[in-house]
Amino acid sequence: MQTGKILVFSAPSGSGKTTLVHYLMSQVPGLHFSISATSRSPRPGEVDGRDYYFLSPDEFRRRIAAGDFIEHEEVYHDKFYGTLRSEVDRHLEAGHNVVLDIDVKGALNVKRIYGQQALLVFIQPPSIEALRERLIHRGTDSLEVIADRVGKASYEMTFAPQFDQIVINDKLEQAQSDIVRVVTTFLRS
Ligand code: ADP
Ligand code: 5GP
Repeated sequence: MQTGKILVFSAPSGSGKTTLVHYLMSQVPGLHFSISATSRSPRPGEVDGRDYYFLSPDEFRRRIAAGDFIEHEEVYHDKFYGTLRSEVDRHLEAGHNVVLDIDVKGALNVKRIYGQQALLVFIQPPSIEALRERLIHRGTDSLEVIADRVGKASYEMTFAPQFDQIVINDKLEQAQSDIVRVVTTFLRS
């Protein structure tokens, strides 16, 4: 049976990854989003089972022990995120391509498991200051959470050279066309 491919997107929070991945999925047919599990609380407007599977920390630990995750990371202090094996396998087995929006370490773990079947794309902001401004402007996180995320961004950017492709999200339209190009090229390969 033909199996699908895995498209993995990582970026420092606020780089525009969600914006770009939504655009990609609206432009390229046959992409299926893998909904991750997390122990963080839902943001206003987020829906359980659509944006994430929101689990309590205890439930998250139970599912780690049960082997339910392909990969999982403590992305922020006490905040766990993980890719569910069930989410990815059901799409791949149906021959569909799967989109993962996960952190840099999770992305490298997926590459170790899936090799050439996975494309890792790093979305890079034009600068740390632009990132901070985007997070403030987005208005979804407290200043404390923003400081935590901006503080982590420089570290996350050091992982970029290990990715298959880097897309710089400065001018949105340019980044949109770049992301569609790198993905369609990979899917044809
Ligand atoms: P992420 O998913 O990486 O945290 P988002 O997609 O939520 O980032 O984008 C963060 C904020 O920056 C949002 O308010 C979004 O509208 C805005 N944004 C995204 N891309 C650009 C861009 N190229 N220029 C300016 N603002 C952008
Ligand atoms: P947010 O809280 O902004 O939704 O996500 C924070 C970070 O967690 C982002 O970098 C996002 O890509 C990452 N993330 C989301 N789901 C997963 C996952 O399943 N595994 C890993 N390793 N990281 C994830």
